Amino acid sequence: MTKPIKYQIVHFTSVKRVGYLALILIIFSFFSCGKNPQPAPKPGSKVHITVLYTNDEHGWMEPTTTYAGAPGLTYQWKNTEGYDASDNYLILSGGDMWSGPSISTWFRGKSMVQVMNAMGYDASAIGNHEFDFTVDTLYQRLSEMHFPLLAANIVETSTSKIPNFAQPYIIKNIDGVNVGIIGLASRSTPTSTFPANVAGYQFTDYAAAVTKYAQEAKKAGATVLIVVGHICSSEMNSLVSVAAANGICIIGGGHCHQKYLSRNNGVVLIEAGSNMIAYGKVEFDYSPADSTTSNFQYKIVDNTATKYDAGIGELVNYWQEQTDNELSDQIGYSDQTIAQSSAAMQNMVCDSWLHSFPDADVALTNGGGIRQSIPAGPVTLSTVVGLLPFENTIVKLKLTGQQLKEMALAGDICMGGMTTVGGFFLSDGTEITDAGVYTVLTTDYLYLRNDYNFSTYDPSPEYTYVHYRQPLTDWLKSIRTSVSDPLSNYLDYVSRR
Ligand SMILES: [Zn+2]
Repeated sequence: MTKPIKYQIVHFTSVKRVGYLALILIIFSFFSCGKNPQPAPKPGSKVHITVLYTNDEHGWMEPTTTYAGAPGLTYQWKNTEGYDASDNYLILSGGDMWSGPSISTWFRGKSMVQVMNAMGYDASAIGNHEFDFTVDTLYQRLSEMHFPLLAANIVETSTSKIPNFAQPYIIKNIDGVNVGIIGLASRSTPTSTFPANVAGYQFTDYAAAVTKYAQEAKKAGATVLIVVGHICSSEMNSLVSVAAANGICIIGGGHCHQKYLSRNNGVVLIEAGSNMIAYGKVEFDYSPADSTTSNFQYKIVDNTATKYDAGIGELVNYWQEQTDNELSDQIGYSDQTIAQSSAAMQNMVCDSWLHSFPDADVALTNGGGIRQSIPAGPVTLSTVVGLLPFENTIVKLKLTGQQLKEMALAGDICMGGMTTVGGFFLSDGTEITDAGVYTVLTTDYLYLRNDYNFSTYDPSPEYTYVHYRQPLTDWLKSIRTSVSDPLSNYLDYVSRR
């Protein structure tokens, strides 16, 4: 069960952003980020602008034993970085806001949207996982969001237009300065979310999209330009010359879950890890007198606050309670105890993954990840949570038959889709050949463990971000077991090792 958070409540102010009054309409025919001085429409001092940046939040709003979640992040922003509604702050995300722990995934991102609204986010790039629950759900989330979704490089195949859920750029007025923010979606999106969810869209060239919309944003009055992209550091670096030529000062990245920080050809590149474990901060001065930016400072800060923002903490608590309420639902019935270490239990867990990922050949997990028996009687979501309690997600990788055989015999591995009894065979009886290539599911936990060779054998797996418990939950619901048709009717009791 999800544990209640004991917040140390220290500070509470609404983070609701106050709209900045645009006193001066600034129209430049040219644009500059550190060069090309222009006539001064607004005499006087420089405007200090601070960007606070996260990416790949993946629904990790809850504090963990290591990181402080959304309540701690907000506390740090307010108390360390001086963020409040009266200051010149932009809160931006590089996308992949949801698809993670059940507190987010259970509600298809709705809970995370509420938290990010309350934290004061101004805009987010569109990550591949924004599409995980279909475009219809994305529209639903967008209707709840107090900030826009940005992508300049998604077009509808049928119309060649940017879809309605995306804006190529926005302009935010910060203390009289028009800041243009251009979004980019990952070109890998068609293979890094469920492909059918984005079948009607094309993810086009980054440089062409940035160039086009930088020009449009400037025509619309932007005098400072920032890119937020669901793009990795290599892709950010490949855009530096285009960014510099178009007067873009900052590129925020995402998708690779790296902490990355550099300044290249005058352009600050920043990616702040993932899961709200850290945030990026970039600050600079803008001089309206000559349309220049200067005094760039930038850093990445770990989210290790020991105090929490009370308002965000209350919101996270609310969603924890909602999650707990949902988990008390009955989803099946068992007429007998299914023992923790039994073949029936191990086969059921692994086979359920293959129901959720029918394109995979084999599922491998460790027996140690299965933590309790299913008692006779009603089966609830709470039972499943206790059974598979860890915050592990499923990773999809390619292994040769030789590698698959080695991994199937490693440690306390249990398996679906294959057996090692009397040889190595897929569940349809086909022999596993050393040279064959197989699609294999495992957990991110096992994948990252050094004593298993998964990451050596496939260094670039697909992170599905599907919780390892979710397929079992879905399968149990789908078979609709009852007193007259109990779970024992659906199990395979034959050991596969
Ligand atoms: Zn991503």
